[in-house]
Amino acid sequence: MADVFYVGVDLGGTNIKAGVLDANARVLCSLSVPTEVPKGRETVVANIIGAAEQAIAKSGVARTKVAGIGIGSPGPLSHRRGMVINPGNLPCLKDTPLRDLVTQRTGIKATLENDANAAAWGEFWAGAGKGVRDLVMFTLGTGVGGGVVTDGRMLRGHFENGAELGHILVQPGGRRCSCNQLGCVEAYS
Ligand SMILES: [Zn+2]
Repeated sequence: MADVFYVGVDLGGTNIKAGVLDANARVLCSLSVPTEVPKGRETVVANIIGAAEQAIAKSGVARTKVAGIGIGSPGPLSHRRGMVINPGNLPCLKDTPLRDLVTQRTGIKATLENDANAAAWGEFWAGAGKGVRDLVMFTLGTGVGGGVVTDGRMLRGHFENGAELGHILVQPGGRRCSCNQLGCVEAYS
């Protein structure tokens, strides 16, 4: 297998988790640092980069062998533009070009993905969905998230939030959801 490694970062409202894995999806090391949302955007961005840098140092992998940093963030976001748009529990990151900030400051190519999509892709690559072409994943936390892989590709949709499965209407005119729509899956689960 190619001698190449990746950093995965899971951005949450309370903690940032980072890990280094190899091309076989074997996790070499992982760690967690506080997100520190109340300190604002610059601190949170610095903490994301710090977590990635610490994970690389802890893994013992040469920096030049790290091919990329993948960041999973709460949506809504734009994968194509690498922008965090308006995450409910990370208000300080509203309209932040996170992918480019991380790429510029680390010198390592970064990519930004919806956290539930990233989870689905992880299962597709190395977990429960290994060997299949189509997969639906639900992430059950405070809210209901979802990710869809179809014919081996991540489903994003025209507005790039195509797999927000918690916000599919199941009861038109029903209970009000955290997203302000009436009758979402999330309002009933
Ligand atoms: Zn909703």
